[in-house]
Amino acid sequence: VPELPEVETVARQLAPLLRGCVLRRIEVLDPLLRAARRNLPCGRVVRNVTREGKQVAILLRAHGSRRIVHRLLCHLRMTGRLLWLPRGDASRDTRHLRARLVFDRGRLLFIDPRRFGTLRVLRGACAAGSGVDPTTRAFTPPALARLLAGSRQELKPWLLRQDRLVGLGNIYASEILFAARLDPRRRAGTLGPAETRRLWRATRRVLARAIACRGTTFSDFGDAGGRPGGFQRRLAVYGREHEACRRCGRPVRRIVQQGRSTFCCTSCQQGTRPGTDVAP
Ligand SMILES: [Zn+2]
Repeated sequence: VPELPEVETVARQLAPLLRGCVLRRIEVLDPLLRAARRNLPCGRVVRNVTREGKQVAILLRAHGSRRIVHRLLCHLRMTGRLLWLPRGDASRDTRHLRARLVFDRGRLLFIDPRRFGTLRVLRGACAAGSGVDPTTRAFTPPALARLLAGSRQELKPWLLRQDRLVGLGNIYASEILFAARLDPRRRAGTLGPAETRRLWRATRRVLARAIACRGTTFSDFGDAGGRPGGFQRRLAVYGREHEACRRCGRPVRRIVQQGRSTFCCTSCQQGTRPGTDVAP
């Protein structure tokens, strides 16, 4: 089953191929696919291909504008995949073809033997996740500092907001704050420059490791059912209440923030007071 890391990989592969392409038409071959047949965004230009949760998102803009007017969202589910054929590629369309997105520079085929995948056309930019994707180059320490500035929210719930950083869930938020040695209850807007940098680096590292682990699980197990992700075994704090902190040996604690569990080591993750930022 393609999970976040695999979808991330697909989006990253498609982005450079599709960016700037003009969408000519969408040919839906499978009646199960209820891709909106009205308001089809033809003539739009691909601005980017990204990931929205576990879906591949093809972002479309109008000519001469950077504003995203439509998104094509593809959920691959069990067996779906997206295959790009550049114009002039003589390859015959494969079996299990459910939809064909025809662009000026090629065709994107949505192939899905078990037909659980979905393809949707939505208007406008992502409503919930218009924030910065922490796996992209747009995510820099200054960008993070700008997002944090002025926020009175506690760090852990702040990380879960999808309008600042997109894609972080409950597990990664706890892991990232542990790796950054930051108290999850700190107010987001009080981080100094060195702490912001630690948070930035921890976010990058934890996500990269998680993505690498899922990938490993995939190639090792091969079958779609095996979901004991490699990252589960590497969790530092999440789900480890009362167990020994991997850094200091004291027990990991579970606290509740906005109705959700946060796992942390209150010894390693002591909140530095505002204005007493420590050197890296
Ligand atoms: Zn500790």
